[in-house]
Amino acid sequence: MVSNPAPADSSADGGLNRAFAVLRDTFGLNQFRPHQGEVIHTLINGGDAIAIMPTGGGKSLCYQIPSIVRKGTGVVISPLIALMKDQVDALRQYGVKAASLNSGMTYYDRRRVESRLIAGDLDVLYLAPEGLLAEPMLALLEKIPLALFAIDEAHCVSRWGHDFRPEYLRLSILGERFAGVPRVALTATADEMTRREIATQLNLRGADEHVAGFDRPNIRYMISETAGAKQALLDFLNEKHRGDSGIVYCLSRRNVDEAAKWFRAKGLRAVPYHAGLAKADRDRHHNMFVNEEGVIVVATVAFGMGIDKPDVRFVAHLSLPKTIESYYQETGRAGRDGLPASAWMSYGLQDVTMLIQMLESSEADEEFKRVERSKINALLGMCESADCRRVTILGYFGESYEGPCGNCDNCLESPETWDGTVVTQKALSCVQQTRQMFGVSYLVDVLLGKSTDRIKRFGHHRLKVYGAGLELGASEWRTVIRQLTAMRLLDPDPDGFGGLRLTDKGRAQLQAGETVLLRKLRRKKVTKPAPRVSSAAPLTDTVDQALFDALRKLRLGLARAQNVPPYVIFHDMTLMEMARKRPRDAATMAAIAGVGPVKVSRYGEEFLKVIREYGT
Ligand code: ADP
Ligand code: ZN
Repeated sequence: MVSNPAPADSSADGGLNRAFAVLRDTFGLNQFRPHQGEVIHTLINGGDAIAIMPTGGGKSLCYQIPSIVRKGTGVVISPLIALMKDQVDALRQYGVKAASLNSGMTYYDRRRVESRLIAGDLDVLYLAPEGLLAEPMLALLEKIPLALFAIDEAHCVSRWGHDFRPEYLRLSILGERFAGVPRVALTATADEMTRREIATQLNLRGADEHVAGFDRPNIRYMISETAGAKQALLDFLNEKHRGDSGIVYCLSRRNVDEAAKWFRAKGLRAVPYHAGLAKADRDRHHNMFVNEEGVIVVATVAFGMGIDKPDVRFVAHLSLPKTIESYYQETGRAGRDGLPASAWMSYGLQDVTMLIQMLESSEADEEFKRVERSKINALLGMCESADCRRVTILGYFGESYEGPCGNCDNCLESPETWDGTVVTQKALSCVQQTRQMFGVSYLVDVLLGKSTDRIKRFGHHRLKVYGAGLELGASEWRTVIRQLTAMRLLDPDPDGFGGLRLTDKGRAQLQAGETVLLRKLRRKKVTKPAPRVSSAAPLTDTVDQALFDALRKLRLGLARAQNVPPYVIFHDMTLMEMARKRPRDAATMAAIAGVGPVKVSRYGEEFLKVIREYGT
């Protein structure tokens, strides 16, 4: 067995100074994000690490910097080819020697990368797991010095997760065949079970674990229950996210197609994405989203992992996600660049009924259903809660967060509650008296005393509750019943067709008549206007805004010419700082976060020229 670990760093500070120099001189950044320094320190010194950091937390630098600092090539294992290309493009822009090898390449291209690898001309090499595990590749890697192995999206080892990749299980051999080469596993999946699986399956039991806080302070959470979700979203986007790019999640392919068409008709640059589209269309829409600005992808959850675009300004849900985990993962794709971003969601009662019904009618065993049921309850609880969203979400992940956050709908507009004891009794009685067979619409008709044929046919116009609910309108009753369902006083009949029945808790409530506080879902208009959330928020000056737009235009042209995404040239954050500080020369330009010497020499002059035209 041959293996060539590069020697550990023997300098007094454990290599951190050199890491810092790379951060500054190569990436043009001034300080490490939480845990980056620690992970990098461990790796530079030859140790293994597990890094759990939220999306946008800065996982890439954790392995890129040690790959550059240590002797030999850093091998990064990633499940997504599209993502590798972006990473390689971005690294090359910084002047880092990076390449990827994948099955889609021509023989000639592969050979060229392999010779660079053998010649020691690569700092970072990206590989898919199956590419790495092929025997010739393993044999090749054994002959050259390796800086480290980085296993990205390490939660793919988990058999219980949705991203399970069987090849990931075989990555445990790296520890044996390449003894002494430091390894790091990285993921944004937080739960304890996944973390343990990563440590055992990847043979990383002795690794340093770094778990970063899961808060995403720049994301504003907004959740509402509405009937016309699309229109509500359109209003929201027109008000807060004009020209921004974002993702809109829908439940089904049909919903996706309809919504994309509808938003396009309303003047947005919206394109659909789901597994039912031809691959060419999917690729085209994906590329538009990444390479152009202001594109909105309307998608099923098929569009997700591997979306590494840092300037996604909003993620919207037009229906409920499956669990809080999926909600957090999906919304986490917004605002990786740290600038303000929105997580907007609106759902209807039928979503809730459907989620529960799908579960109850599935073939799964009772144990599985219990787990899933509690997950749905947690999700509904979060939606219905009048508390700070961040407190609820982070609490769910076991993180105690001192709220209120001041950056979620409940904090900004503090929801009102009202004493819903009487209406609760009426709604529950209505369910009981109609024999627990009917869905929301019918129940509401009975409460409102509507004279429909159906009601007459069942003789329900003779019930005590018939017409007993005139104090509320139809949509308010829907909301009430929705909340009672979320509170599990009612639940959908698993064998029925959308009928609601009383739970044990519901029956107890009907007898005891305890005080029930319901949330008022119809918000009062906020008196002070909520701050604009768009990326342009920090630019108050109109000159700055015009300059920022001009810089963006220049960036887009440069990106197109090289066929790379605009953010690979400079991030919005960097352009914004340019617009604000208006550097006059290469030296002041280089001091702007995210620039760095390589980019100054590549693009400095062109950007300076645009800035000069705007004067001071
Ligand atoms: P992750 O993989 O954890 O989702 P990335 O590695 O893609 O996150 O980084 C997210 C964003 O944060 C990137 O745009 C990156 O340039 C930026 N970033 C990472 N580390 C730093 C830092 N120390 N200072 C400033 N920006 C950073
Ligand atoms: Zn809050």
